[in-house]
This record gives sequence, C-alpha cells and structure tokens, in this order.
Amino acid sequence: MAQTTNPQESLWGVDSSPAIKSYTLSNLRKIPQIEKFTEEQIFEMEVVAQVLPFKANNYVIEQLIDWDNVPGDSMFNLTFPQKHMLKSEHYGMMASVLKNNPAPKEIKAMADKIRLELNPHPAGQMELNVPVLKDGTKLYGMQHKYKETTLFFPSQGQTCHAYCSFCFRWPQFVGMDEMKFAMKEGDELAQYVREHPEISDILFTGGDPMIMPAKIFSAYIDTLLDADLPNLKTIRIGTKALSYWPYKFVSDKDYQETLETFRRVNKKGIHLAIMAHFNHLAELKTGAVKLAIKNVRETGAQIRTQSPLLTNINDDADMWAEMWQKQVELGCIPYYMFVVRDTGAQHYFGVPLVKAHKIFQQAIQKVSGLGRTVRGPSMSATPGKVQIDGVAEVNGTKVMVFRMLQGRNPEWVNRPFFAKYDENAIWLDDLKPAFEDKFFFEDELNEIKQQKKQSMNS
Ligand SMILES: *Cc1c(COP(=O)(O)O)cnc(C)c1O
Ligand code: SF4
Repeated sequence: MAQTTNPQESLWGVDSSPAIKSYTLSNLRKIPQIEKFTEEQIFEMEVVAQVLPFKANNYVIEQLIDWDNVPGDSMFNLTFPQKHMLKSEHYGMMASVLKNNPAPKEIKAMADKIRLELNPHPAGQMELNVPVLKDGTKLYGMQHKYKETTLFFPSQGQTCHAYCSFCFRWPQFVGMDEMKFAMKEGDELAQYVREHPEISDILFTGGDPMIMPAKIFSAYIDTLLDADLPNLKTIRIGTKALSYWPYKFVSDKDYQETLETFRRVNKKGIHLAIMAHFNHLAELKTGAVKLAIKNVRETGAQIRTQSPLLTNINDDADMWAEMWQKQVELGCIPYYMFVVRDTGAQHYFGVPLVKAHKIFQQAIQKVSGLGRTVRGPSMSATPGKVQIDGVAEVNGTKVMVFRMLQGRNPEWVNRPFFAKYDENAIWLDDLKPAFEDKFFFEDELNEIKQQKKQSMNS
C-alpha cells in the first residue's frame, strides 16, 4: 500500500497544541473553505442544518476533509449538511419557511415538526430501557437493555467535538428538553449497579463523554471507583474524540489529568475500554490521532473500534479492510460494524442488509485474523443486536440468515434464524420470517414490553 500522508498535515505540526475552534450554523459562512460554494449551495446547507444539527471544528476542517474532493469527500459528507439528507418534502417545507423572512420561533416550530417525523427515539429507547431504583426513582440518564451492561449518559457529556450527519443521537443536541436523557448524579448510577449484581460493564455514552473537562469526567469516574462495586469489571467510554479532537489526549491543557484518570481505573483493577468511533480511514492518518492512540493505550486502556456502514461515506469494502488493518497496526481492536438505524437521514445513508453483508464479507476476507475480531453488520433493534450472517438456500428457498449478538433475553443470543430473502430490506422491521409466521422472539418481546409499561406506570 502506498504511504499516503494527509495533504494538510504539514499545516499542523504533530507537537502543536491548537485550540479548538467550533463552527455551527451561526458561523457556517465564516469557514474559509465555504467560499468555494455558490450562494444556492450554502442556502441548501443552512436549510438542512436547521433540522439536523451541524457542528465542525478547525481540526476536522483543516486536517480530515480533503477540500479538493468536495462534495464527494467522505469526511465532508460525514460532518457537513447536504441537501439530500432531508427528504425532499421536508427540505421544501424548511426552505419555504427560510425564504419568507421568518421569526426564530417560526424556524424552530418547523424544525421540531420535521424532527418528530424522523423517528427520533427508535428501538423503544424511551419506554423500554429506563431503569428504576428499588426506591422507585426512575433514572432517565441511564438505559439498561442487556443484562451485563448499563448505559450512562452523563449530563455534561451530551454534545460532541463535531457532529456526524448520520447520528441518531441528534434529539439530545437540539434543545428538545423532554427528549433529553440526562442525569446529574454518578451516585444514582453507583446505587443502581450495586442493586444489580448482574451488571459487569458501565458504558459512558452521549453525545461524547470525552467532551467533558478532565475535572468533571474524573468526578464521575472517582464516584464509581470509590463506591467499591464488586461486580463492576469494566468501564467503557463511547467516544469520537480520537477522531474529531485527538488533542484531548495529546495537548489540551488538562490532557494529562484525563490520562491520569484512565490510569486510576486500571490501577483499581477495572478494565477501561475506549469504544472509539472511526468511520473512515482518513480519521486514522494524522500525526495527532496516532499520538492520541499511543497516549491512551499507555494508560492501560484498550481501544475497541466501531462504525456504522454508510452510503456516501464508507460503503466500500477495500476502505473497511484498510481501516481495520490500520487499527490493528495502531494497537486497536476492531469490534462492531453497524447497520445505520431507522432514524434521521436513513434514506441518505442506509445500506440494504444484503449489500451490507457483502461489503462486510469482502472486507473481512482481506484482513488477518487479528482484524476479524469485528462483528457485524449488526442492527441495534428492539429485541437486540441482530447480525446478518449471510444469504443461504434451504430446501430450494433463498433465505437470509441472522443471529443476535445481544438480546433483551440473553437466551436469544447466538440462535440462528431465517427471513425471506429481500434484497431491499434495510432494517429488521422490513423482514418476514422464512418458515414460520413469527420470529422466535416476538411473543416474548411483547410480554417484556407489557411488563415494562406496567412498571413504568406504577
Ligand atoms: C451495544 C450495546 C451494549 C453493549 O453490547 P456489547 O455487545 O456488550 O458491546 C449495551 N447496551 C446497549 C443499549 C447497546 O446497544
Ligand atoms: S460523535 Fe457520536 S454522538 Fe456525536 S454526532 Fe457523531 S455519532 Fe453522534
């Protein structure tokens, strides 16, 4: 493979300590590279950014995006709004509001209306996954879907260094208060984990928990460490900071404190797993990201990687193979390839399951066993994480083969099941059982939903 360096890397030395400069809708026109676009193109971006929140920063703009390759560039599509990310009817609705000299509240009303039509809380997240303490307190800043692992959304971690245009977490960024899962106290988290000895993993998620200053982050972590929870074996941090702002671990003024907190987890005998989101090889090429990975690994933390498969960004088997190889080379462990879920701009990013499996298979055939730790393509659907294993023929009938990597009921895991072949199916809801009238988990899933509804109302 040719040694490609990022064309813009020389602008920023590896040992520079840059300050983050953020760009959102309000200063989009101040981005120097935006001068390349026509007024009409900029207006299109503004229409979309009223609905799907936009945020980029100087590192993403100067080091990750190849502006000679725009609008086709993957990193550009990953972070900048594009006309077709909205369905044409939604685009038209917002464009006509903007053309009529609107008051801010008219824009907001239209944005909220469109957002509600975008299925902001898929996979039963709101009702089904909210945990309850023994004293009856409902923990809206947490989700507990799979037995061993609970998700925690620290309230100061509900934003990111830049936003991904495909992201299903966007309801949390746009100020729709009733949608915000957030919680103030690490104490309630510790209490919940104490009450549930089956939990071994806490996954800090967001937004991006690594947006938090080291002081706040360490307050959460130390609360957990000081609670001496015998069942807590792993703390996971879901983050895209390695990709969008590697200086967090390299040169920000509190970076050593962040790394020190990582070390304390390790010293306590708890495994620290950084669940790093990398969507494209371009994110692994700068000097800063390589140094950040090295610094994080030196604390004793492991880095596992994951990404959805996305049309217009990374629907390319060769790119995935190179990305996994590069991750292994840098000491990271490829973990999940996801199918993009049924929310937001799925019509723009979605990849049908049959095609997703083909890309996965072609890519995994090209890497050594150390890269084959990755699993997928996987849908995080209501019953669990469902992986497509491939297409097969059973008694002359073409079927799609699936299994669960995670299930609301652990007994569902790793049980193969079959759906009628459907080349266009994009999500579990599109599938029909191949040989029965229901999938094996459906009755039990309905029971779980009923029980949860009752306990939430009590
Ligand atoms: C993916 C996921 C987890 C973690 O699952 P693992 O297979 O253990 O990585 C936990 N909770 C939710 C809701 C998830 O989607
Ligand atoms: S970094 Fe993660 S949470 Fe933030 S916008 Fe991207 S995918 Fe969403």
